[in-house]
Amino acid sequence: MTMPPLTLYLAAPRGFCAGVDRAIKIVEMALQKWGAPVYVRHEIVHNKFVVDALRDQGAVFVEELDECPDDRPVIFSAHGVPKAVPAEAARREMIYVDATCPLVSKVHIEAERHHENGLQIVMIGHAGHPETIGTMGQLPEGEVLLVETEADVATLDVRNPESLAFVTQTTLSVDDTKGIVAALQARFPAIVGPHKEDICYATTNRQESVKAIADKIDAMLVVGAPNSSNSRRLVEVAANNGCGYAQLVQRATDIDWRAIEGIRSIGITAGASAPEVLVNEVIDALRARYDVTVELVETAQENVEFKVPRVLRVPA
Ligand code: SF4
Repeated sequence: MTMPPLTLYLAAPRGFCAGVDRAIKIVEMALQKWGAPVYVRHEIVHNKFVVDALRDQGAVFVEELDECPDDRPVIFSAHGVPKAVPAEAARREMIYVDATCPLVSKVHIEAERHHENGLQIVMIGHAGHPETIGTMGQLPEGEVLLVETEADVATLDVRNPESLAFVTQTTLSVDDTKGIVAALQARFPAIVGPHKEDICYATTNRQESVKAIADKIDAMLVVGAPNSSNSRRLVEVAANNGCGYAQLVQRATDIDWRAIEGIRSIGITAGASAPEVLVNEVIDALRARYDVTVELVETAQENVEFKVPRVLRVPA
């Protein structure tokens, strides 16, 4: 039986970023150094496949520090944690390793610097996301106000419109954030912020590569988890840039074959916490049904690498 032809546009860069790579390495190296169990506060990165693999090696995932015993090491996830968390771990004399991505830590430092200069902070981010909770938790309550949309800017109740700064979550939509920043600048002309938003290189690059293919394809599959902010943004970016159907899939079994029936072209990308093995699984599932021709669409090259903390680089 001949299979229908399908052109598969494979976005690059896609998948793991340097912060995710480092966070996973931190858990693996901690297990090697201290043996199992090693506790991890929150999913180290938002991907079930990654979390399950680390759990098999002896990592224990918890949501709060009070679920960890004092005498086992604990790792804080790539998304960052409120200041109170490492402070509590230190008070309990626990061994802890912070896997917060250095690009998230950079935003924490920025927020602190503005606070020291007497500015109140506006954070552009998603309520309830661990990164937002972590960044807001760098400063005392009330010092960081959250806005999620342009509409939120209109109702923002600030202490002093002349003494404001903004920071952003690292995994937002570049285009949506521009609109929110413009609304903030229109309402508070004195507000200060980063030269570019705090959206990281990996988020920006993955969105750019999706934009480069979105209007050439009948459908887009984004490999990633439903709680992964940057993966969900990729689905939106595809839809907002001309792709008629975009779906987030955790793995091949999630593909809605009925929804993509009759397609001649498809795009594939992956969020920053999705491993390449899952991308290959999705491609294999397409190859089983279509005569696939792959075209790589590479819009940037990445060579960012972050070192793991020193405590893991020295022998026990
Ligand atoms: S998406 Fe960006 S900020 Fe988040 S872990 Fe990756 S590099 Fe760091």
